[in-house]
Amino acid sequence: MNPIHALPSYLEPEGVGSWGVFLQQVDRATSTLGELAYLVETLKRPKRILIVDIPIKLDDGRVAHFEGYRVQHNTSRGPGKGGVRFHQDVCLSEVMALAGWMSIKNAVIGVPFGGAKGGVRVDPRQLSEPELERLTRRYTSEIGIVIGPDKDIPAPDVNTNEKIMAWMMDTYSMMHGATSTAVVTGKPLSLGGSRGRRDATGRGVFVCGRTAAAKIGLPIAGARVCVQGFGNVGNAAARCFAEAGAKLIAVQTVEGTLHNPAGIDVAKLGAHQDARRPLGEFAGATLIPDAAFWEIESEFLIPAALENQVTAANAGRIRTRVLLEGANGPTTPEADDLLAANGIVVVPDVIANAGGVTVSYFEWVQDISSYFWTEEEVNGRLDKIMSDAFNGLWEAAAAARVTLRTAAFTLACRRILEARHLRGLYP
Ligand code: NAD
Repeated sequence: MNPIHALPSYLEPEGVGSWGVFLQQVDRATSTLGELAYLVETLKRPKRILIVDIPIKLDDGRVAHFEGYRVQHNTSRGPGKGGVRFHQDVCLSEVMALAGWMSIKNAVIGVPFGGAKGGVRVDPRQLSEPELERLTRRYTSEIGIVIGPDKDIPAPDVNTNEKIMAWMMDTYSMMHGATSTAVVTGKPLSLGGSRGRRDATGRGVFVCGRTAAAKIGLPIAGARVCVQGFGNVGNAAARCFAEAGAKLIAVQTVEGTLHNPAGIDVAKLGAHQDARRPLGEFAGATLIPDAAFWEIESEFLIPAALENQVTAANAGRIRTRVLLEGANGPTTPEADDLLAANGIVVVPDVIANAGGVTVSYFEWVQDISSYFWTEEEVNGRLDKIMSDAFNGLWEAAAAARVTLRTAAFTLACRRILEARHLRGLYP
């Protein structure tokens, strides 16, 4: 087989993967559903799964095929909403789980969306920019039958960004013969993007961290922060913490792990990365073995890369006060139990990284009304929505004596299933 073709995900040996984790999280929360319990199976089956073949012409004239997905997990509360991931390991079960977490997150935060997610099984670093554009456009046209401003609205995720959202918006608009800015969020400002969207997920992670710290009497000034993943989410979260007086002491990326107990300059590391210089050449920190990252003592630990990073294998060695899930699904249920037993506050993904979808909601509202807000308005509303939602979860978790994750899933399952119950089953 041509090496540029990725293996279809149904040949993956790992079975249900992240989707299995999502199902366990639903199970842990559903004992209190009462009269809504008859609908719980709804959450254990995605509403709609689309698998597409994406053939593109490479620069050298050959044709390569890639597998793409769009999963709409649940649309009881509104149109589907969720990002698009380009990664060589993307597979159907991963996209199903990510779509499920979007349903929960949107219900927790109270934005009027269901949950969806998309992905293409590709290593985008292997493609030239024209090849990446052709891949994005063909993927968009293939999923064009299920997306739309009132059907399902994609956004950026791992290895996708504003430029890719612009190509998606243009492709969809060309297919429909009219410019449709509200079909995707996370667009450039000049195409109907929202002020504050780029940093929104990281800013929301910080708001949750600040609010959690206030609950346990932990000062932010001088707090030590470790971040895994220094992309859209990790970089912005680290910047917000640094602006509030905290100290970034370790950063792990796909290239390796940097450590400096005296503090890493976030802006300098960002500039180093933007210049595409190797991580190991960064002068302001030392490279340490990747496994050592999880043992560094800190006040805040922020996984902001991929799923299944905090597992039974490393959770027992983690020495932090607050684990803030910037990434989706970074912690397995077994690790959750170990962290809780060790008194570590875990702020789950479905609230911690909800700042992105909250400002995506603002962007969609602004596009539909063609009336754009200032950055202060965006950040102010984001801060209020996130801190109110966090405070509500904190109280619910304390009252029910459960973790924040179980409290979040309980609240979200109730909201989604109540909507389903009121709508009734079609036909
Ligand atoms: P990104 O592509 O901008 O950055 C990903 C970062 O993770 C990079 O620094 C990369 O080097 C690092 N990374 C990848 N694999 C790694 C590994 N095996 N070990 C260590 N580091 C690794 O992606 P992003 O948009 O910042 O997304 C990160 C996470 O946040 C994902 O779980 C995503 O689903 C979640 N998330 C993103 C958004 C958003 O608005 N972008 C919103 C909510 C949640």
